[in-house]
Amino acid sequence: MAMFEKTLIANRGEIALRILRACRELGIRTVAVHSVADAEAKYVKLADESVCIGPAPSAQSYLNIPAIISAAEVTDAEAIHPGYGFLSENADFAERVEKSGFVFIGPRPETIRLMGDKVSAKNAMKAAGVPCVPGSEGALPEDNKEIAKIARAIGYPVIIKAAGGGGGRGMRVVHTEAALINAVTMTRSEAGAAFGNPMVYMEKFLENPRHIEIQVLADSFKNAVWLGERDCSMQRRHQKVIEEAPAPEVNRRLITRIGERCAEACKKIGYRGVGTFEFLYENNEFYFIEMNTRLQVEHPVTELTSGIDIVQAQIRVAAGEKLWLRQRDVELRGHAIECRINAEDPFKFTPSPGKITNWHPPGGPGIRVDSHAYTGYTVPPHYDSMIGKLIAYGDTREQAIRRMRIALSEMMVDGIKTNIPLHQDLMLDERFMKGGTNIHYLEEKLAAREEANRK
Ligand code: ADP
Repeated sequence: MAMFEKTLIANRGEIALRILRACRELGIRTVAVHSVADAEAKYVKLADESVCIGPAPSAQSYLNIPAIISAAEVTDAEAIHPGYGFLSENADFAERVEKSGFVFIGPRPETIRLMGDKVSAKNAMKAAGVPCVPGSEGALPEDNKEIAKIARAIGYPVIIKAAGGGGGRGMRVVHTEAALINAVTMTRSEAGAAFGNPMVYMEKFLENPRHIEIQVLADSFKNAVWLGERDCSMQRRHQKVIEEAPAPEVNRRLITRIGERCAEACKKIGYRGVGTFEFLYENNEFYFIEMNTRLQVEHPVTELTSGIDIVQAQIRVAAGEKLWLRQRDVELRGHAIECRINAEDPFKFTPSPGKITNWHPPGGPGIRVDSHAYTGYTVPPHYDSMIGKLIAYGDTREQAIRRMRIALSEMMVDGIKTNIPLHQDLMLDERFMKGGTNIHYLEEKLAAREEANRK
């Protein structure tokens, strides 16, 4: 199979470096594109070539489609890797990339579009036999009586969600019939303004679920495997803070059944590349909520437990390689935990950009650090505050936690504030150590801490 000779990386930070490393191992030359603010970043210098695509604000650089396409043209790149965030789930971008004669390292634009609309995604998953949250059949009708009937059939509380929503926006929980119509009207008008699509749908609101997701890998020939699950329930404001694989305290047979359904669904919709099926898990049931059609931040925990380099696999299937693994070749072993290291105040969570005067990452058995930071690196104020990921692997969850504690205690980041103290606290938290906390746990813990501090 002919591998790409040159790939353009349309992203920044730790994921740009991660993709660069995968390309190098595959013998692919790399083009880094960067904003003015990232011109001095070390990974930009590590790339074979680099092109400045605009000023600091991402709207004018990392989201600037014409600038990225022309960078690929002038450097003669064959493929474009979108990373995560930015343009990674933008079907129009994927289409423009392919129409311009480059390979988009990701699913086909039609698939991104299908999964980007939550109503069509849910319908496709239902048809493929993936269990979904009970809810309305597609978008809600105009008639208020009909809407009330649907809510009664589902049972309160319900959640009204925008079909085009994302990033935790465009949702409203409703507890009583009296509040229903107003909530639908408000969500519709917000969704129209924010996402250009006023369509909303209704789901049963699950009160105390966990967030568990399935990683899949598929080629262009309708072969697909799943690579295990990740538990990402430790969240603040819908942002994941800690991820781990496997999910503690969940029946393996049940997970296997769900994983197989996800792989089957990939074959049914002709999915290509890597992807993630996100589920809410409550009372021993899995409920599909959405699919991410891209590489995810938390992919390393799956790499460590499956032994598969997900980024290289993604590039290989994009280059047209037939899947080299069957499901029975996927062997999951041990336990991995990832802490997202953010440049932020560990108590107030306000961003803390600036110059890192001392960067000393930890090491030792089972420790992996994915970061583009170094001593002297200035964290720009324009982008996401994540400056790296610390990942610990062990034979057991207990060993992974112990290694993570040691790694956190060794890690030094001076000059800016980071959330390392929060992670240290969580690695000693009894409920976390037991495993299986739900998506509200971290917020509740932080609220209790706040309350204790006020006294
Ligand atoms: P987004 O694309 O904006 O991230 P999701 O559909 O993935 O939207 O939902 C984001 C979060 O909202 C979930 O992780 C969960 O915390 C909450 N949520 C969504 N749907 C439900 C539901 N039916 N019941 C309870 N919580 C939900």
